[in-house]
Amino acid sequence: MTTFFGAIADDFTGATDLAALLARSGVPVSLRLGVPKTADDTAQIEIIALKCRTAPKGEAVAQCRAALAWLRAAGAQRFFWKYCSTFDSTAQGNIGPVAEALMADLATDQTIYCPAFPENGRSVFMGNLFVGEQPLAESPMKDHPLTPMRDSNLLRLLAPQVTGPVGLANRLTLAKGALNARLAELAAQGVAHVVVDAVCNDDLWAIAEACQSMPLLTGGSALAAPLPVVWQRQGLMPKGAGTNFFVPAGPSIILSGSCSAMTNAQVADYLAAGHPAFRLDPSDLAAQGHGAALDWLASQPRHATPLVYATAAPAQVKAAQGRLGIEQAGHLVETAMAACAAAARDHGTRRFVIAGGETSGAVANALCITRLQIGPEIAPGVPWCTAQSAGHDIAITMKSGNFGREGFFAEALGMLKR
Ligand code: ADP
Repeated sequence: MTTFFGAIADDFTGATDLAALLARSGVPVSLRLGVPKTADDTAQIEIIALKCRTAPKGEAVAQCRAALAWLRAAGAQRFFWKYCSTFDSTAQGNIGPVAEALMADLATDQTIYCPAFPENGRSVFMGNLFVGEQPLAESPMKDHPLTPMRDSNLLRLLAPQVTGPVGLANRLTLAKGALNARLAELAAQGVAHVVVDAVCNDDLWAIAEACQSMPLLTGGSALAAPLPVVWQRQGLMPKGAGTNFFVPAGPSIILSGSCSAMTNAQVADYLAAGHPAFRLDPSDLAAQGHGAALDWLASQPRHATPLVYATAAPAQVKAAQGRLGIEQAGHLVETAMAACAAAARDHGTRRFVIAGGETSGAVANALCITRLQIGPEIAPGVPWCTAQSAGHDIAITMKSGNFGREGFFAEALGMLKR
């Protein structure tokens, strides 16, 4: 199948989030982890997940240009640069520099920026990004360890990241149905980078309709969600036959390395139901390695769904990080999770529930997964997927820290029984 829509995502669980929203259209969505070497068996919608949100600028640009080249070779005619709905970036980039590089490669002189995700409380008004009712710079994002967001104004955030002028198409313009006229006016002034307001899903639909012919759009996953339907109405994209998700037979496992508030509640919920569980402690891992976890896994009966978790409360995480260093603590846990995933697969496990963005990356790597086919959504932005691992069909879901409700693990597993 020739690809029509190609998207590049700057991190892993952000890509699965985008994939889940696009799959709501019924069009088959394929997600590649990294730039593939060949372009065979492509889907109408192809997403390439990169890990370049905080990479050095030159590296991020090179990775994204390689991804674009692959998508173009697959036949894609419309492109999307997906970043976080909290505009995670620094004055150096990487949102602006990547957008400019993709625009140059596509020989297009204007694109839009809209990180709004109204369902998740992210809105853009008069160029300012809000998290719930708080301006971005007053939200917890102000203290992010890698990309602290200390300004809420997207025009000011974007300006130092790009070489050309930045403009705004505000909510009033959108409400008047005058987005195309505003974009043309800005284009005549040489404004290449246009921040567009959006506070609700109707706004995102209006933007998608107005901008459907632009070669490149940039934003959060919610901006992309209406695009397949808009193109279907234009006859540019065939009606989807729905996902052909199938559930491979075999035992299940849950691996949880996220320490977010929601994942802590999800682990507590699963433990309270009395399921077998093994807690990974970073200090024990430093002293004795992860052999005990592997032995415990090997001793589990086939019908059980074991949980291996490093998920801990903030004070415990801080203590472990104080003893071992942030990086080493994370590395020990990720290595153990990766080893557990590979061992479980070798013992016949075919269904994997993973919690945590970095944890998902480590597990996908250990399972040698290069491609995911997107299935049904368990929670908004968290789909079940199918993949190949060492010649076996597996089902896998990967959720970023705060996604899903308390009963997420049981809900995810329950969906496979139906
Ligand atoms: P999230 O999506 O919630 O950010 P991630 O998996 O991306 O989850 O990040 C969690 C990080 O914390 C990982 O690097 C993981 O290895 C590390 N980690 C998990 N448990 C602990 C712990 N108990 N102490 C210290 N670090 C931990």
